[in-house]
Amino acid sequence: MRIVAAEARTVRVAAAARSANLSFEGMTATALAIRTDARRNGKELVGLAFDSVGRYDHTGLLRDRFIPRLLSADPEQYADGYGGIDPVRAWAVLMKDEKPGGHGERGGAVGLIDAALWDLAAKTEEVPLWSHLMSLERANNGRRGVADVYASGGHYRPHNDLEDVCDDVRRAIAQGHHRFKIKIGGADLDADIRRIEAVLSILDPHMRLAVDANGAFNLQTAMRCAEALSAFPLMWLEEPVNPLDFESHREIAERMSIPLAVGENLFSMDDARNLLRYGGLRRDRDMLQFDISLSYGLVEYRRILDELAERGWSRRRCAPHAGHLLALGAVVGFGLGLAEVAMDSTTLFGKLTSHVAVCNGKATLPDAVGAGFEVTPVFSEVFGGLLN
Ligand code: MG
Repeated sequence: MRIVAAEARTVRVAAAARSANLSFEGMTATALAIRTDARRNGKELVGLAFDSVGRYDHTGLLRDRFIPRLLSADPEQYADGYGGIDPVRAWAVLMKDEKPGGHGERGGAVGLIDAALWDLAAKTEEVPLWSHLMSLERANNGRRGVADVYASGGHYRPHNDLEDVCDDVRRAIAQGHHRFKIKIGGADLDADIRRIEAVLSILDPHMRLAVDANGAFNLQTAMRCAEALSAFPLMWLEEPVNPLDFESHREIAERMSIPLAVGENLFSMDDARNLLRYGGLRRDRDMLQFDISLSYGLVEYRRILDELAERGWSRRRCAPHAGHLLALGAVVGFGLGLAEVAMDSTTLFGKLTSHVAVCNGKATLPDAVGAGFEVTPVFSEVFGGLLN
């Protein structure tokens, strides 16, 4: 199979919401289509990918560097030996002439191509992505297309913040969710505690709430917050401090019992390993949220999973960042702990997974082949400009 073209476009994902450290009004993401010379059921075989959220689009790096590198490669360099494309070999093509370290936006650009090639690999086999990944792992865990999920959102709103965050959670409850996550760190501690109390007051006893500070605190403030939050039955405190400050992670983990969830802003296996080495995280309670799409994709994520296994971590402690179809497929396919789904179904990311049925806190993924973009309600909105 030969890659004949690849095209990326910028998609606006703007939303009138903010976390502790950024507004989403100018947020963008990338849609990518990789075209091949192969056909299935009379149709051109095309691999699709859509970005993660929170880091803006990667079209510049794709157009200037990674797409030309992929298109200029001899198809033998990425052939899987069975007439298809091997995403692992293609990954090596993409990373040729790239220096080690310095993992930043590059990981997101490579992650998009990686995701499109895995979509293509699953479509070549005519199976859903989660099923394809499960067969690679030889992991028949009996879960089929089912993942434990949590509804993520609760961003700060300019008006009626408390009412709006509660309404978001009520809607997610009505959709079948049992686990929720809201933002903290963007207001003073007393105001954040009022948000937490308001949401907890509308949850049934078996439902759980997590909070996300988006790395807003210094160590002293984080300690004060962690101590105050220990009074509540929270699922976790997410990113209390700067994501690269491993020493502060370690101090919090040593001195506070509240579970932590971290890692969404580390973009490589190297960085994940440093977090595990130096962050003092606890295998019995803390969650690891490396963002698959922003961290060079599934090829690199499998290396992270190998590293976790070597260090005695269960995959069930993994909850990849961002509610996108790639992560949902990986949670099922790799047997990870939790998938994130955007709580606000009026946003693009919310719409992207709004067709995924959720019941009692579990999502059932569609049986559509590949990552499943073709059956999302926003397929044309995201990919329409690329597939004409
Ligand atoms: Mg977060």
